Amino acid sequence: TKESNKNTYNFYTASLNTQSYKRFFLSNDFRNAMQKNQFVLYYQPRVDGRNGRIVGAEALIRWEHEEWGLVSPDDFISIAEENGLITPLGEWVLRTACFKLKEWLDKGLHVRLSVNFSIHQFLHSDIVDTVKRIVQETKVDVNFLEIEITESSLLPSGLVVYHAVKELRAMGIQVLFDDFGTGYSSLSWLNQLELDGLKIDKSFIQKISDNSTTLEIVRSIIKLAHGLNLSVIAEGVESSHEWDLLREEQCDEIQGYLFSRPLPADQFDQLLINEVMK
Ligand code: C2E
Ligand code: CA
Ligand code: CA
Ligand code: CA
Repeated sequence: TKESNKNTYNFYTASLNTQSYKRFFLSNDFRNAMQKNQFVLYYQPRVDGRNGRIVGAEALIRWEHEEWGLVSPDDFISIAEENGLITPLGEWVLRTACFKLKEWLDKGLHVRLSVNFSIHQFLHSDIVDTVKRIVQETKVDVNFLEIEITESSLLPSGLVVYHAVKELRAMGIQVLFDDFGTGYSSLSWLNQLELDGLKIDKSFIQKISDNSTTLEIVRSIIKLAHGLNLSVIAEGVESSHEWDLLREEQCDEIQGYLFSRPLPADQFDQLLINEVMK
């Protein structure tokens, strides 16, 4: 009836509004949050695919919001990309991560650290210059630093990314292709960019246990990557069965809740130290 249609409609707009309401407030608070240092980095271990030992970590940002609590990057990275603050935010992430990495290396904890870069940072700032400046400032050994880039809808930018990636790799930094398999032209990127590794997106990993097609796709991605001399990281590994399947395919590295959720810096440090003393 007309009446129930109306109710459905109202319900729909109401729930939509909650989303845009949150986005509206987050977007208003963003500049302020940067001044108040409300962002923090969490660290998720990356482990050797054969024996499960920690070989590195991925830095993942969170926003400690006064009213909303811990806000996920999925809720604010796109805001930062829209208002242009991704450039200073991305610099803060890299600087914080590099200081952390330097601290581990100085303690004799030889692990790699990967940092996520938004494609916007390549397009709207001199990313190579920024990286060089921060590396000098933090005195970190770049051979342990990795950068993760995700294919986005902004593909016409291929050439800019190509040159920047080339320069970063020439500095000794490794570049990983994030979320591999989810984009429109993952294979064409592989053909254009020289990279060091790729991360198979967790949407694939989550299906390998019960979907033989997905398992076959993941097998093929690993073979393809190894054929191209790329290392392969599987993200989102939650069960030991998933790990077994990936180990059988010689997947180089594993990341996922099976080993650990992303941790605050002090907890990750503790995990690392415990592992070294084992
Ligand atoms: P991503 O780079 O693909 O990171 C992997 C995401 O999967 C992270 O979500 C991580 O917490 C989550 N994850 C890890 N293991 C598991 C698992 O076993 N199961 C499940 N279900 N999830 C798992 P998170 O931390 O919420 O980050 C979301 C996205 O935000 C990241 O996806 C990345 O694209 C972006 N992001 C995070 N930090 C930064 C940053 O510093 N800069 C930029 N530009 N983007 C960032
Ligand atoms: Ca990533
Ligand atoms: Ca992903
Ligand atoms: Ca992503």
